[in-house]
Amino acid sequence: MKKEIIVALKEKISRQNWESWFLDFDIREIKDKHVIFEVGNIFIKDRLEKKFNKIISKVVKDILGKDSTFEITYKEVKNVKSEAGPLIKKRPLLITPLNPKYTFENLVVGEFNKFAYNVFIEASKKPGFYNPIFLYSGVGLGKTHLAQALGNYLLESNPDMKVAYLTSEEFMNEMFSAIKNGNIEDFREKYRKKADILIIDDIQFLIGIKSAQTELFHTFNTIHEAGKQIIICSDRTPQELKDFHSRMISRFQMGLLVKIEKPNKEDLFKIGKKICQMKHIEIEDKIIDYISNVYDNPRLIHGAILKLIAYKNLYGKLNLSIAESILTNVSKPPKSFEQRLLEILADIFDCSPEDIISSKRTKNISYARKVGMYYAVKKLNLSTRDVGTIFKKSHSSVVQNVKQVEKLINDGNIIVKNYLKQIDKTSKTFAHGE
Ligand code: ADP
Ligand code: MG
Repeated sequence: MKKEIIVALKEKISRQNWESWFLDFDIREIKDKHVIFEVGNIFIKDRLEKKFNKIISKVVKDILGKDSTFEITYKEVKNVKSEAGPLIKKRPLLITPLNPKYTFENLVVGEFNKFAYNVFIEASKKPGFYNPIFLYSGVGLGKTHLAQALGNYLLESNPDMKVAYLTSEEFMNEMFSAIKNGNIEDFREKYRKKADILIIDDIQFLIGIKSAQTELFHTFNTIHEAGKQIIICSDRTPQELKDFHSRMISRFQMGLLVKIEKPNKEDLFKIGKKICQMKHIEIEDKIIDYISNVYDNPRLIHGAILKLIAYKNLYGKLNLSIAESILTNVSKPPKSFEQRLLEILADIFDCSPEDIISSKRTKNISYARKVGMYYAVKKLNLSTRDVGTIFKKSHSSVVQNVKQVEKLINDGNIIVKNYLKQIDKTSKTFAHGE
């Protein structure tokens, strides 16, 4: 019976289509009147369902009777752990450092992202097979995490492979500075020739920037023609990239379009648990349950957990009612919290909390400000925007101050290190005194 179905199908499908899509097509099982076909990967399954559904259904019904049905499955790639590492690791061409926490293992997989996950797992095994891959979803649903997971995986398992991951904004900035410095040829060589896989995140940034679009278009074509993997991440579909060159949109469309949907409550809960695990922090299930009821987006869940961690670090305790009050006003950290940090700093640097948020530039006050900002960003994991709100300073001033302290630390400045230690200690004493 199996053979009969395959033969009948082959008769109905052109040779060219057969060779493109049916070479590893097989029947895994026939249960009563239900046929389970199996193909090599999810990409082929997707194409077959879209293009050949009617023909397959007709053949199955002709042979097994009118009420017969079918489904197509694919061989899932299960093992995402890399095999034993090679002896010599060559230096990979890594354009933007990848976040080492963004791995496949740290990604919660559910109905909402299963298709995307499987496509990326497949791509990690056979880079260039589905090309390009266009990954899109609303913000915060895990595109960057997934794209970097692929990058991290490839770097670990194929040390020879040169992975280029960067946002379209970074691509553009580098291009402009190459033009300015007269070395656009080096820039082109780097992305068109040296990279084996190019991952461009947040493509929507290039809307309205024709010159960068054109450069990316040529890069895209060169890489694609060489059979190397290209991945584009976007917060909208190709058609919605209004004002992009139509030739570019059609390039994106010729590949595999992959969407991440919205996760449901259980998925969000699991994501909350996973984030805590990644940060090595324990937060009670009922608090995570509360968070996953309030927020419907992994990025917001991530932000909420960072706030709770910051609170726990400063005060040494956390429970559901505290969590509720901290998170009720998400856009702004709670008053008591900012006040606490400023008080600790004031205590150490011998000034008042008001001094720190003022525009005074006395040495100890400036010092308190920058060390405090650094502590809030690096140790308490607050976003630079929130820190700006706490210190009543602009976002760019926070970034600058944090950089300055980073440099001092890198230069081995003991005084700064001591101050940071002192903040750590004082916040703990405060917490115990409660
Ligand atoms: P996007 O790029 O789509 O805006 P991100 O990849 O930046 O989203 O995800 C936002 C945050 O949520 C990140 O910290 C990420 O690790 C986390 N996250 C998103 N999806 C998942 C998931 N499925 N499992 C675990 N963490 C996730
Ligand atoms: Mg992103």
